[in-house]
Order: sequence, then C-alpha cells, then structure tokens
Amino acid sequence: MASTRAEILDYAVSPDHFIGGRRVSSESTFEVRSPLDWDWKLADMARGDAMTADSAVTAAVNAFPAWAGMPVGRRAEHLHRLADLIDENIEMLAAVECVDMAMLLESLEARVIHRGAENFRNYADLAAGHVERQWMSKGTQNTVQRMPAGPAVIITPWNAPWLLSTWKIAPALAAGNTVILKPAEWAPLSASILADLAHEAGIPPGVLNIVQGIGEEVGAALVGDRRVRRISFTGSPETARHIGLAAAENITPFTAELGGKGPFLVFADSDIDAAAEKAAGQFDDAGQVCLAGTRLLVEETVADEFWDRFTLYTDKHVLGDSRKPATTISPLIHPDHLKRVEGFVERARENGDEILRGGHRHKEDALWYEPTVIAPKSNDSEIVQREVFGPVLTYQTFSGEEEAIELANSTRYGLSAIVYTGSNERADRVGRSIRAGTVWVNTFLVRDLTAPFGGCRISGIGREGGDYALDFHSDLKTLQIKEGTTNG
Ligand code: NAD
Repeated sequence: MASTRAEILDYAVSPDHFIGGRRVSSESTFEVRSPLDWDWKLADMARGDAMTADSAVTAAVNAFPAWAGMPVGRRAEHLHRLADLIDENIEMLAAVECVDMAMLLESLEARVIHRGAENFRNYADLAAGHVERQWMSKGTQNTVQRMPAGPAVIITPWNAPWLLSTWKIAPALAAGNTVILKPAEWAPLSASILADLAHEAGIPPGVLNIVQGIGEEVGAALVGDRRVRRISFTGSPETARHIGLAAAENITPFTAELGGKGPFLVFADSDIDAAAEKAAGQFDDAGQVCLAGTRLLVEETVADEFWDRFTLYTDKHVLGDSRKPATTISPLIHPDHLKRVEGFVERARENGDEILRGGHRHKEDALWYEPTVIAPKSNDSEIVQREVFGPVLTYQTFSGEEEAIELANSTRYGLSAIVYTGSNERADRVGRSIRAGTVWVNTFLVRDLTAPFGGCRISGIGREGGDYALDFHSDLKTLQIKEGTTNG
C-alpha cells in the first residue's frame, strides 16, 4: 500500500494560492480534514477573497498575449512535459487525493491520476494537429480561425477533483487561454500539487493560476470579473444558477456540467447477471458520481431474478478505509454531506417510500453510509426526482419499452443513462429515445476523450470533450478574402 498517514504528512502540499508563478498566502484560512478520519486535519488552506481573485485574474490577463501568441506546437510541448511529470508522480498524487476526498487508492493509482496526464496529452495533440477549415464560396476564400478567447475561470467540485480539473484545464491551455482554477474547498489538495508540477514543466508564470477558497467568496469574485472571457464550471445546478447570473452580467460564455439522476434500464432480454453486477457497482465511490445510474428500472418479468443477483453483488461490498485494497465503498466526503444524504432517506421514509435495504449510517461516529435501495411510493417521490449524490438507489419496475423510456425521461436531469439489453435494435431505439448527454449500453464509464460530453436539461449547458472544448475556449472567426486578391 502506497500511502501511510506519515507519508502523506511528509509530502508538503502547499496551502497557498499559486498566482503569477508564485505562492501567495491569505490572512485567513479554512480547514481541510480527511473523510477517512475526521479528526485528521490535513491542512489550513489559504482562504482567498476578492483581492486574491483580482490578482489572479490580473496575472492571467498579463500572461495571456504571450501564451496565446506562442506557436501551438510549443504550447503542446509544455503540456506534454506536464503530462510526463504527472505520470512520474502517480503514487504521490494518488495518495494525497485518497486522503483528501477518499476515492479508492487502487483506482487512483491504476487509472484516475494517469487520466489527468492523458487529458493534457490528448488536448496538446488535438490542438497541435488542428487544420483550419478553408473553402471557396461566392467568390471568396473562407477560413475559420480559432482565436484564443482570453483568461478562463475553471471551477470544480469535490467528487473527482483531479480528474475534472485536468479535464477542464487541458483544453483551455491548449487553445491558448490562460487559466484561474478554483478547486472545491472540501478537496483542494491535488490542485495545489498540479501548480507545482506546472511550474516544474516550465509553463510560464500566470498561465495557470490556482486560487484556494470558498465558492461564495473567491469563486463568486472570479466569475464576476469582467476580464474573464470563459467560465467552465462543474458542480450543482444550484451553483450554476449563481454563476450563470454573473456570466450574464459580463456576457461571458460559460459551460456547466451539472448533476444527474441517471436511469439504469434492465430489459428482460439482457444478460441479467452482468446487469446486476454493474447495477451494484453504482455504489462505487459511495455513489458520489454524477454519471451514476441511480434509478434502477427493471422489466417486470425478470425483476425477481435481477433482485436476487443484485443482492448477491451488493452484499459483496466492503465499507472501509479507501487505502485498503479490499475496500469497495469509501466514506462520504464531509459530515455535512452525510447529513444531506441522511435527510433524503429520512424524507423518503416519511413519504411512505419503502427502504428495501440499508437506510442508515454504517457507524455512528464515521462518514460511511450503507448501500441503500428505496422503492418509491410514486415516480414523483423526491428520492426519484432529486440527485442524492450518495450510495442511494431507487428501484422501480416497468412493463415494455414504452414505459421504460417514459420513466427514463421522467426527471428534470439528463446527464447520462445506462441500458442493459441483448438486442442491438433495442439498444439503438432506446438509446436514441433517451434524453441524456451520454447513453451507455451494456457498459459504463467507457469514454473516448474526443467525444462530446455534457448534460441536457438541468444537467448542463454546452459540451466539453475533443474539439467541442477547444471551440468553447476559442472565439471562432470567419475570414473572407475576395478571390483574385493578389500579393503586393
Ligand atoms: P457545488 O456546486 O456546491 O460546488 C462546485 C464548485 O463551485 C466548488 O468549487 C464551490 O466552491 C464553487 N462555488 C460554490 N458557490 C459558488 C459561487 N457562488 N460562485 C462561484 N463558485 C462557487 O457542487 P459540489 O457539491 O462541489 O459537487 C457536487 C455536484 O457536482 C453534484 O451535483 C454532481 O452531480 C456535480 N458534478 C457534475 C459532473 C458532470 O460532469 N456533470 C461531474 C462531477 C460532479
């Protein structure tokens, strides 16, 4: 096992902001504790304010002309160096992220941290390989140019801090924008290490700035700054409304990747065992996964068989310390979040929804919550209609494809969906009928980094991924030159 308590404390994660290539402190601080043991204080992080936001945006504005004007191939070299440094530091990054937000160490070491490196490589290559679109029409030569837009503010949530910050920073930098990242206050440590690595990779001062602090304070100041030309946000729909208002004030384009309440459809013609195993996997990361299929919808005729298999797989889960290989369910991030999850289950009980399993904390004085399944009294129950963001699934049955699709589309969310079926025709039909940014059939979480990613309805605005993110971070210009315009 890579991380012991002592080793983590030995790695000096800076509590300060990183602005204009330098560490900058704040007079006030906020505490960061480990979900693995709430008595374990990890850091007193700098608590940025309006002045911090102002100096970070100023640094990004000042660094912008040189970074935007740099040949795209040279920018790509910087990003490749950063990717290499990430890969060289997987163990340390995984250990820090694990104690900071309790994601399983094994998956951090095996996949998640490396994905950050892949994000930078992918965007470096995409941007460097971009060929401008050019064509003749109406007697003019048309060229579509991607102009770097300007400083971009990136705001990330606590549930996948490393994955999401690298996913969002990489296209912004590759497109030629400078960046100010504000990570979530509940899991800010890996972002601080990213600043060190970016510095070591030779990324010029001011190109990547990292500001620590509370969303309503420094976050609000950042998104309200009129010099910011892009805002890329991942988090809850509630916060997106505030950010949207600030963006509207300055006509700043923004993308919002928001919450989900994904349906998990199991048709009678599917491999029921495979479906049940994947359904039990929706408890992974303690259900703190925006893309999770949290509404189990099972065809009536196979409901008993599915439930038996699902119970078998769910019983195998081990709630424990995220650093131990046997653990499959980590604690929730924060006592406030645990209370939020408990509140949903309590209200479901009061509403007359049936708790099929779980429905309580694992231990009184710790942050684990039992894998919970609730059969709602009706599809209108709050537990069906609102995102819990914890290890809580709902269970409903359907008869036939039409009802399955109707139930799948019956919330205000539209981030993702999972479908299990043995029929290719049904996969195509149902997949096309579901309103969601991503639909997985007979699989889950497999993603091509060049595909568009985002949500419908209250799950988001805009798309990230591949060229979609590079276009978002650019001002697209059409340059028209009259045919016959000669040299000289
Ligand atoms: P949140 O909205 O509370 O916070 C997200 C970030 O916004 C944090 O960094 C916070 O400090 C900041 N913030 C809060 N108020 C702000 C303000 N007024 N101005 C600027 N910034 C502000 O979300 P959370 O609790 O950290 O994350 C959980 C949510 O994120 C869930 O809804 C989850 O589904 C969603 N999420 C979505 C995706 C996706 O890709 N669609 C991925 C992961 C998480």
